[in-house]
Amino acid sequence: MAYHLPFRDDLGFCNVFLSALGGDGANTAAKLLFKIGCSHFGLDGGYDARYGSEKKGTATDVSVRFCEVGTPVRQSGPTDRPHYLVVFHPDLIGPLELYRGLQDGAVCIVNTVQTPAAMRELLRLTHGRVICVDAARIARETRSRLNVPLLAVLCHLLQFPDDQVREDVSAQWPRAATQNLAAFDAAIGASVAGEFEPDDRFAYMAPKTTRGPLGWRNMLNGGTIDALTHSTRDRDNRVAARGRVPHFDPAACNSCGICLTVCSDPGGLLWEDGKMVGIDEAFCKGCMRCVEVCPTTKRGHALETPTASTSEGN
Ligand code: SF4
Ligand code: SF4
Repeated sequence: MAYHLPFRDDLGFCNVFLSALGGDGANTAAKLLFKIGCSHFGLDGGYDARYGSEKKGTATDVSVRFCEVGTPVRQSGPTDRPHYLVVFHPDLIGPLELYRGLQDGAVCIVNTVQTPAAMRELLRLTHGRVICVDAARIARETRSRLNVPLLAVLCHLLQFPDDQVREDVSAQWPRAATQNLAAFDAAIGASVAGEFEPDDRFAYMAPKTTRGPLGWRNMLNGGTIDALTHSTRDRDNRVAARGRVPHFDPAACNSCGICLTVCSDPGGLLWEDGKMVGIDEAFCKGCMRCVEVCPTTKRGHALETPTASTSEGN
């Protein structure tokens, strides 16, 4: 069918960026989106996912760049200039600076119960559309997953016909087709849109790009894979834990090391000279697996789920 991309940048790409946490299914949703675009709408382009040292709970960026077939694909890797931004967790907009690089007239889809006007403030959107959908509730009530309602709204706004996308969603997860289609329909029906004209309230904020475009003049040794673009070594995982890390009592710890066997990001556990000495908040994702396995010693329980009072002192 004849399909024309709603946006195109100077390289011919329409850029889609999904911001989520590991385990939300953003990666799978973006792969399906790319497959739908290329299989049915004559599109080409690129796909990229970037996530942290460990999977579940870590901030995850997924990019899809669509272009029309025949357009030279001259750029790969993540996009930092989205036309479409999908936000799985609005409380990460500030810490991850998701407002940077938004294209003029960008379309932002946010999983939230709040209004488009409130989200526009958080996104510092100069001009564009904000679509709010309570995807978490929809996923819970339909027994689907967070990625399906957000994918539904994204495809709808990309003007992919709903019937085609529904068919592809069913084929992708045949055993959960009923739940996913219920989530799909609920999301389309429940999304609330706000349109914002330029009003000088917010200025464009450039992406934090430090390297500039790569080409034959500045190609990296080893080819085109730019490890620094994909590295998340500087990313502070506090965005995932929301500052909620286990409370550690060194007096009760016998340094048995059991916590190390379950930690989803062992950098979160600080050890010195064979002794557990604390939690590194920059790596800990707050999953509390270590708390579950930490044994009760004669002096108590070394790791506890934080309460309001213990998290202050951590
Ligand atoms: S599991 Fe508990 S007692 Fe064992 S090393 Fe870890 S914190 Fe210490
Ligand atoms: S809560 Fe415990 S197991 Fe989970 S990431 Fe933090 S230190 Fe590791």
